[in-house]
Amino acid sequence: MASNPIPLMAAPRRGHYDAIIVGARCAGAATAMLLARAGLEVLAIDRKPYGSDTLSTHALMRPAVLQLWRWGLLEPLLEAGTPLVETTTFHYGEEEITIPLVSGSDLPGLIAPRRTVLDRILVDAARKAGAEILHEMAVSDLFADTHGRVRGIEIRAAGRAALRVSADIVIGADGIGSLVAKCVDAQLLRRGAVSAAHVYGYAPVEPGEGYHWYFRDGIAGSFIPTNDGLACIVASVPTGLFDQRFRLGHARARMDVLEALSPALAAQAARAPKDARLQAFRGVLGYIRQAHGPGWALVGDAGFFRDPITSHGISDALRDAESLARAILGGSDAAFAVWQQHRDLIANQILDITDAVAGFDWTLDDIGERHRRFSAVLKAEVQALAGQPMPARRAAKSKPATYRAPANQDKPPADLSRNRTGARP
Ligand SMILES: Cc1cc2nc3c(=O)[nH]c(=O)nc-3n(C[C@H](O)[C@H](O)[C@H](O)COP(=O)(O)OP(=O)(O)OC[C@H]3O[C@@H](n4cnc5c(N)ncnc54)[C@H](O)[C@@H]3O)c2cc1C
Repeated sequence: MASNPIPLMAAPRRGHYDAIIVGARCAGAATAMLLARAGLEVLAIDRKPYGSDTLSTHALMRPAVLQLWRWGLLEPLLEAGTPLVETTTFHYGEEEITIPLVSGSDLPGLIAPRRTVLDRILVDAARKAGAEILHEMAVSDLFADTHGRVRGIEIRAAGRAALRVSADIVIGADGIGSLVAKCVDAQLLRRGAVSAAHVYGYAPVEPGEGYHWYFRDGIAGSFIPTNDGLACIVASVPTGLFDQRFRLGHARARMDVLEALSPALAAQAARAPKDARLQAFRGVLGYIRQAHGPGWALVGDAGFFRDPITSHGISDALRDAESLARAILGGSDAAFAVWQQHRDLIANQILDITDAVAGFDWTLDDIGERHRRFSAVLKAEVQALAGQPMPARRAAKSKPATYRAPANQDKPPADLSRNRTGARP
């Protein structure tokens, strides 16, 4: 009797790429798209399925929306049913300040696409540009040459020998627990001072709602309209309070926080089906890591993490994807140095202001001032982004200007050694 064929694990089509990216969500898929659009051979690998969700709310700030618009992806996101957000309201205790988001701008408003939608559209755009993207496959290690320069990745599957694939550059877009950062022992440049916990779920909402951000002493919350007629409703507290109050059950503790912030917000959350799942993030201290080294780079949360309370992680991931693509296409050590310098400048500002909000050491009298500081950073970021050229395309038939090693390391030695950094995941 014929047995069922064993499904074959998808395998990379080539043995060598200009760039291999570990992780294919907002940082990885965006980097893959930009490099592929510029003519590079790109492979991106993600251990999660195509179009899957992840632990993240998804309110996009203006820099992210601007990037998506510049890349031609705002329209597909709107066509996928992502509602336009045209106002943002800050609730400081009983005080409400509503700000229109549309006047005097090229952008029609903001959006908060579910990650199942945003990450899928980025992956589709990367594939359309020619990038190869493999899902449900984990990168297990990196390998390096005898000079310690990273030369490629290893993929292991049960019962098979490890598969090695080489690249001019390996990019870690693999999030907070980055394997690439561990393998290369990326230096920690800065550690943030505080962390906050965020517990969220989805509830049905009327169309036309804006963003709402709620603050009362020691607690915060948000209301984020998204796809499928739902809003993401978040309760945010210092990690210490989460450990005390949420230990015995997320649902009751979240509802208590929402009620304390605003009974209307709690009533919205109560419209969710009784069995709706909640997601909880206990909090992680922010960090900024060294962004590149011989044969490797980090982008997105792999290189820089700030608490979600300022909803800026996806903006950071998209901005750094574009500037990393520019550095790779520039191809010189100087281009990488400039990239890291710019990334550090903005990352330090974002981390400062995010910690100032996520520390919950403000009062209702001074939180507005912290938001105004954040808004000024966003404004400067948007201005800088709007003035940037798109990462250059390769001229027809010319050799891609990929990242070049110092002269004595240009060609991989035949005998590739194991990762000489000695660091293991
Ligand atoms: C609770 C919470 C709420 C948030 N809310 C917002 C918000 O409202 N707005 C906002 O802008 N940002 C928000 N953020 C931040 C945002 O989620 C991150 O900044 C963003 O996801 C970073 O994208 P990334 O592509 O760098 O990493 P990730 O989205 O973490 O993707 C990394 C990918 O790498 C894959 N991977 C990891 N290791 C391997 C491996 N060895 N092999 C193969 N694949 C691997 C993972 O499977 C994953 O899919 C929030 C974060 C959290 C935790």
